[in-house]
Amino acid sequence: MLCAGKLGGLGARAAVLRPGRAGLGGFGAGLRARGVSTSWSPVGAAFNAKPQSRRLDLFGERGGLFGVPELSAPEGFRVAQEQALRKTDVLVARACATPPGPQTVLIFDELSDALCRVADLADFVKIAHPEPAFREAAEEACRSIGTMVEKLNTNVELYQSLQKLLVDKKLMDSLDPETRRVAELFMFDFEISGIHLDKEKRKRAVDLNVKILDLSSTFLMGANFPNKIEKHLLPEHIRQNFVLTGDHVIIDGLHAEAPHDLVREAAYKVFLYPNAGQLRCLEELLSSRDLLAKLVGYSTYAHRALQGTIAKNPETVMEFLEKLSDKLLERTMKDFEMIREMKMKLNPQNSELMPWDPAYYSGVIRAERYNIEPSLYCPFFSLGACMEGLNILFSKLLGISLYVEQPAKGEVWCEDVRKLAVVHESEGLLGYIYCDFFQRADKPHQDCHFTIRGGRLKEDGDYQLPVVVLMLNLPHSSRNLPTLLTPGMMENLFHEMGHAMHSMLGRTRYQHVTGTRCPTDFAEVPSILMEYFANDYRVVNHFARHYQTGQPFRVMALGLPCIASPSWRPLQRFISPMYVISCGFQLFLSGLFS
Ligand SMILES: [Zn+2]
Repeated sequence: MLCAGKLGGLGARAAVLRPGRAGLGGFGAGLRARGVSTSWSPVGAAFNAKPQSRRLDLFGERGGLFGVPELSAPEGFRVAQEQALRKTDVLVARACATPPGPQTVLIFDELSDALCRVADLADFVKIAHPEPAFREAAEEACRSIGTMVEKLNTNVELYQSLQKLLVDKKLMDSLDPETRRVAELFMFDFEISGIHLDKEKRKRAVDLNVKILDLSSTFLMGANFPNKIEKHLLPEHIRQNFVLTGDHVIIDGLHAEAPHDLVREAAYKVFLYPNAGQLRCLEELLSSRDLLAKLVGYSTYAHRALQGTIAKNPETVMEFLEKLSDKLLERTMKDFEMIREMKMKLNPQNSELMPWDPAYYSGVIRAERYNIEPSLYCPFFSLGACMEGLNILFSKLLGISLYVEQPAKGEVWCEDVRKLAVVHESEGLLGYIYCDFFQRADKPHQDCHFTIRGGRLKEDGDYQLPVVVLMLNLPHSSRNLPTLLTPGMMENLFHEMGHAMHSMLGRTRYQHVTGTRCPTDFAEVPSILMEYFANDYRVVNHFARHYQTGQPFRVMALGLPCIASPSWRPLQRFISPMYVISCGFQLFLSGLFS
C-alpha cells in the first residue's frame, strides 16, 4: 500500500501512508438488514446491508465532520486552522519559557497534536470529500498548517528550548525511555529541516519544503484519479466495460482481471497514458527534493528520507532489492514461461505476452489447475462475512470487538461510510475506525489508511482516542446481492485493517509516536502479517459462508480446495516474486513519499 503523502517534520510524522458502551452495538437506524436466511452479527449485517437514505431532516442540527463542530461547512476549516495556529503561538511561548525537563517534551507533543489534528484531517478531506468546496477548503488548511510546521522546524528559539534538554545528560538519563526517544525524534525533525543553517538558508529550506508539499500533493492526486477519453477512440464493443458519461469513457484503473485482451490493453494504455502536466510536476518535485537534501547536508533526498527508518539508507535498500531479485530470478522466469504458454494456448493469434497480461493469465492458470471458478467461491466471501471474520480474529487474538455505531448528522462525508467503535474486553473503548469502502465518482483509486487523530495521554489523565479512516474501492452491493470480495480484495481489506488495529493498539503516551507513526517501513509489518491470516484456511474456515444460505465454505465443500488453504499458496508462486519485490520497493517508496 502506498499511503497518502503526509507532512514531514514537527507537525506530522508519516502515517500510513490508524467506555461507555451506550450507543454501541446497534446497527443503526440508517442501515437495514437484507432479507437472507442466514443471521449475521451486527457487524456482518451492517456491511452486507445497503445504507438507507436519511429521512429528510430540515431542522435537526448538523454536526461537523468527524464530530468536529467547526467542520459542519467548508468555511469551518479556516476557523479550525486559525484556532490551531493561535494555540501554536501559546505553546511555542510556553515551550521557550519552561525550564528543560519532561514538561518540555509534553509541550512539544501538544504543539504537534494541535497542528496534526487539523492537518491530518484536512489531508484526508482534500482527497476524499465528494464536495469540491470541502476539498478546496481542506487543501488550503493543509497548505497553511504545512507552512507553519516548516517554520517551526526552523525556529531557533524553539530548537534551543529542546536542545537545552538534550545536552543535559543527567536530565536526559532521568527521563523514561519513551520520553527520551520522543525528545530525540523532535530534535531529528529540526536537524533534517536545516536548523543548523544561517537565516537566509533556513528561509530557503522552508520555501522548498512548502513547495515540495504542494507538488507531492498535486502529483499524488493526479496519479490516483481516473482518466477520461472521448468514446469514439475506443472500439465500440468494449466500451460497455467502462463507465460512460456523455461522449466520454472514464477509465478508473487497470482492469487487470478482465478476460478480454483488448479491455485490459485499453485500460492499461489509457489509465497510464503519459500526462505532460504530471511529468512536469514530477520533474519539479524531484529537483526540489534534491535541492532541499543538499541544502540541509545530505547527498541525496533518499538519504534524508530513509534516515529515520529501519533500512536507514538507500544503500541498504538497494542491496536488499538486488539480493532479492537475484534469488527470485529463476523462479520468476519459470512463472513467466507458464503465463506465456497459457496465453499461447488461449490466444494463438495474439500470443505475445504484454504488460497487461500477467495478472489475468496467472488467474486463468490457477482456475484451470485447481478447477476454482470465482463464481463458485465469491458468494462465500461477502464483505459482511469478511468483516465478521475480522471481528472473530480480533476477538480471539486480542480480546477486541468491533461495534457498528450510527454516525451523527454531518459526521461522515458520504452516507455509505460505516463507523466502528473498537472495544477491548478490559480496557474499554480504544478508538474509532471510519470505513469508507465503496467506489464513488471522483474518489481516488487507492486503498489506504489515514490517521485522523492520534492517541495520547492528556495532562488531565484522559486518553485522547485515536480516529482513523480506511479507504477501499469496493463495488457497491445491489438490492439482492451484497458486495462479494475476490481473494485480492479480501487480502487488501485485511491489510488495511492491520494498519487500523496498529493505530488502535499503539497506545503511546505521546501522539508523535502513536500507532502507525513509527518508522514508515516498520508500519507495513502488522499489515503484512494480517495478509497471512487472510490466506490461512484455519482462519478463513471460521467465517467464509454463503451470503444467502449461510452454508460454510470448507475444503470439502463443493469438492474444491479452500481458496486460502496451504495448497493455495504454491499457486501464487508466479506472483509471489513480483509481489515480494514490490513490497521491497514499497518499503523504499514509503520512505521517499512520506
Ligand atoms: Zn500498507
